Amino acid sequence: MDNPLCGFCSSRVLLCPACQSKYESGNLTQADIELSRLFHEFDINASFHHALDSVNFVYVFAPKNQVGEIIGAKGVNLEKLRQALGKDVKVVGEEDPVQLARDLVAPAQVVSVSDVHTKDGESLKITVKEAEDKKSRVSFKDLAGVLYVLTGKKTQVILSK
Ligand SMILES: [Zn+2]
Repeated sequence: MDNPLCGFCSSRVLLCPACQSKYESGNLTQADIELSRLFHEFDINASFHHALDSVNFVYVFAPKNQVGEIIGAKGVNLEKLRQALGKDVKVVGEEDPVQLARDLVAPAQVVSVSDVHTKDGESLKITVKEAEDKKSRVSFKDLAGVLYVLTGKKTQVILSK
């Protein structure tokens, strides 16, 4: 298992020095901590990379092959997480940056997505409609940063009229 919070910290209240410094540098969010502890509590033997708390959902970003295990048979784990968090939980398999971008901005629409090759390597160019920022789960100004954290891919967000 490889979750944002280490196994030791997942089963106790205080943070070890390593997790504490991750938390202070912003690489470990409150949602990461909460989810790691709930995975431990509910015996969910799966890994995830990041959790993101939004207004209506808690998103769990995980490697694609972990998604089924996190959801559980007939969604039993999702239901436990939903009860504990008081919010619906969405699990996003994160190998596909394009799908991830669409999930993050829904119900706002992605106008176009393309891979751009620059001298620094491959990056993603996403065009969204400026007027739809309020509909997007992740604000457009944060989108590039969030995608970079989740996929390691540089992203350029273009606002169109
Ligand atoms: Zn720790």
